[in-house]
Amino acid sequence: MAQYNSVTPELIEKFKAIAGSRVATGEDINPDFARDEMPIYGTRLPDVSIDVMSTEEVSAIMKICNENKIPVTVRGAGTGLVGACVPIAGGVLLNTAKMKKILSYDLENFVVTVQPGVLLNELAEDSLKKGYMYPPDPGEKFACLGGNVSTNAGGMRAVKYGATRDYVRAMTVVLPTGEIVKFGATVSKTSSGYSLLNLMIGSEGTLGVITELTLKLIPAPVATVSLVIPFADLDTCIATVPKILQNHLKPQALEFMERKIVISSEEFLGKAVFPRSFNGEDVGAYILCTFDSDNRDELDPIIEKAADIVLEAGAMDVLVADTPDKIRDAWAARSSFLEGIEEQTKLLDECDVVVPVTEIANFLHYVNTLEAESGFKVQSFGHAGDGNLHIYTCSNDMELDVFKAHVATFMEKVYAKATELGGQISGEHGIGMGKIDYLSKSLGPVNMRLMEGVKNVFDPNMILNPGKVCYKM
Ligand SMILES: Cc1cc2nc3c(=O)[nH]c(=O)nc-3n(C[C@H](O)[C@H](O)[C@H](O)COP(=O)(O)OP(=O)(O)OC[C@H]3O[C@@H](n4cnc5c(N)ncnc54)[C@H](O)[C@@H]3O)c2cc1C
Repeated sequence: MAQYNSVTPELIEKFKAIAGSRVATGEDINPDFARDEMPIYGTRLPDVSIDVMSTEEVSAIMKICNENKIPVTVRGAGTGLVGACVPIAGGVLLNTAKMKKILSYDLENFVVTVQPGVLLNELAEDSLKKGYMYPPDPGEKFACLGGNVSTNAGGMRAVKYGATRDYVRAMTVVLPTGEIVKFGATVSKTSSGYSLLNLMIGSEGTLGVITELTLKLIPAPVATVSLVIPFADLDTCIATVPKILQNHLKPQALEFMERKIVISSEEFLGKAVFPRSFNGEDVGAYILCTFDSDNRDELDPIIEKAADIVLEAGAMDVLVADTPDKIRDAWAARSSFLEGIEEQTKLLDECDVVVPVTEIANFLHYVNTLEAESGFKVQSFGHAGDGNLHIYTCSNDMELDVFKAHVATFMEKVYAKATELGGQISGEHGIGMGKIDYLSKSLGPVNMRLMEGVKNVFDPNMILNPGKVCYKM
């Protein structure tokens, strides 16, 4: 177990010599820096926060922290859902959100170079103006790209285009020792030793501080159409997912949602878009999918084929959203699930398992049987096309410690089931501190030994983001 030192007034003076008035202590620290979007895993303010602006500043600060064994936590926008950016060991918080320049486009090589604090929606909008798309599309558009890369964020379009990992070509990293290093290159393939670039992706701020990213773009599709597909029950809905994929329809997004979560989201938005019943029968679950193409005319036969397949598989109806307004309305309800749940719930926890697509229904039935014995409400939705499921446990009347104990029992069973079905405990949100106990159970001792070894090589003094992923405090 690493021993850390306190941040002394002398060290604060050294930080001020590097970053001036961007160093904050005491009441000047932004209270948001104590938490991310899932405070149930724990909160703590750092002893000092520093808004960093350059690779050189980060390097100078890391050298001081490494020499003095001061813990450092890196933060992007703080939208994470596993407590990964929470400075639970105190020490220094490096806020990278102010490093927000889009530095350059190299469109002949289909790449853009950015600082880590650029927001996902800023890059998406800017590249679209140039006719290009940055495909990763996690639900939270106001996350920083540095945070997205550090969690290997997934999102709606992963089913067709892959997750963030697939779009990272190169990065500049400051190691915990303060050394500045470049991983990867602006090339479309490489077979040049171990991929340190890929080790950094999804490492949740435990191996190094990302200060520059070179990301891949693709030509933007010219047309999209979304389908809202109601089903009488969840089983028929989920069983339809592989049929869409097997028929080479290549949806850009393929989400499933149960009736109760759609209703709560629409109540939050004050607008109902999804049909609640069809021919007098209640809708039990929905698929929401989007198809894209470089040619609008190519979409019609795809939509017709998709409609035939889902109706034959037991869909109640197929609603086509083919104008920007209709598409926006259909996706607004999906995008507001978490905010809808948050508004209606006092105590909230979640899990983000990923299972083989063929096991989704099996897994969800198991979760629904656990709900009956849990004492809290369970709300589920997910990226059906890639088997990534978000299960929310919600209570308005339990005491916090009772809720936490019941959720722990529930999560143990849920993660054990996901592992038994060939799944993993996180599809896109990461491990942070919220899921650290479950990772070793799921992966086993050899995997954990290798991860701890990697951590040791990058960070011999264990100063970077203690208590996260594989290094328990
Ligand atoms: C409403 C909502 C919807 C969401 N939907 C999705 C979704 O669909 N898919 C998905 O994957 N996630 C989703 N998320 C989770 C969250 O948005 C992502 O995990 C996101 O990638 C976090 O980015 P951030 O900038 O907020 O990072 P933070 O929360 O600030 O940090 C996350 C981790 O990244 C590290 N980090 C941040 N910047 C750097 C850096 N420059 N160098 C090194 N490490 C760094 C931190 O130390 C921490 O470990 C959602 C969250 C919300 C609130």
